[in-house]
Amino acid sequence: MFPQHCLLCADHNGGDLALCKPCLDDLPWHRVEACPQCALPSHDSRICGRCLSAAPAFDSTRALFRYAYPLDGMLQHYKYRQQLNLAKTFSALMLQHFARPAGFDRIIPMPLHPKRLAERGFNQSLEIARLLAKRLDIPLDLKSCRRIKFAPPQASLPHKARIKNMRGAFECGISLTGQRVILLDDVMTTGASLHELAATVKAAGASHVECWVIARTLNP
Ligand SMILES: [Zn+2]
Ligand SMILES: [Zn+2]
Repeated sequence: MFPQHCLLCADHNGGDLALCKPCLDDLPWHRVEACPQCALPSHDSRICGRCLSAAPAFDSTRALFRYAYPLDGMLQHYKYRQQLNLAKTFSALMLQHFARPAGFDRIIPMPLHPKRLAERGFNQSLEIARLLAKRLDIPLDLKSCRRIKFAPPQASLPHKARIKNMRGAFECGISLTGQRVILLDDVMTTGASLHELAATVKAAGASHVECWVIARTLNP
C-alpha cells in the first residue's frame, strides 16, 4: 500500500480515508441538535415545526455533514468524477458515524434519469450505496425505482418550484409491501427529491423509509 496524500492539504498522509486527522476534524460535521425526520436544526432534537405541519414522505434522515466549505467542493469534485476514491471515504465515514441500521430490506441510491446518466457517465449516489450495501449486508436495489421525468437540475430552481419539478419524477416497478428501505443521496437541500422518491416507495408498499445523505443544507 502506498501512502496517499491528504486530499485537502496535501501536506500530510491521508491514510485509508485520503484525509489527514486535522483536515478530517475540520470538516463541517452535522453535529447540531436536529429534527430526526428531516435533519434540520431543531431544539432538543424534536420533530420540527415544518415536519409537524407538512410531514415529508420519509420517516427519518441521517446526515454526515452540513453542506458547507470544504465539503461542497469535495462533493462537486466527486460528482464530476475528479475524485472517485471519495466514494470509499464517504461510505467509510457513514459506517463510522451512523448507528448500525437493523432490519432494512434494501438500499436504493437516488436514481438519475438515463439522459443525465449518459451526460455524466456516473451516478454519484450509486457508488456510495454499493459500498455501504456490501459492508452492511443489505441488498443494493438498482432496479425497482426509475427516474422517468427529465427535469432541470433542482439547483437552478427556487424553493417552491422544486417540489413541483419533482412531482411524478419516479416510478417503482415492484411491490415493496412492508419493507424497510434506505434511500441514499449525496446532498439534501430542500428534500424535494428524497420526499418524492420516498412517496413513490411508500406508494409501492414500503412501511419505513430512512434517508442517508452525505451533506444536508441547513438553510434551504
Ligand atoms: Zn490534510
Ligand atoms: Zn423536520
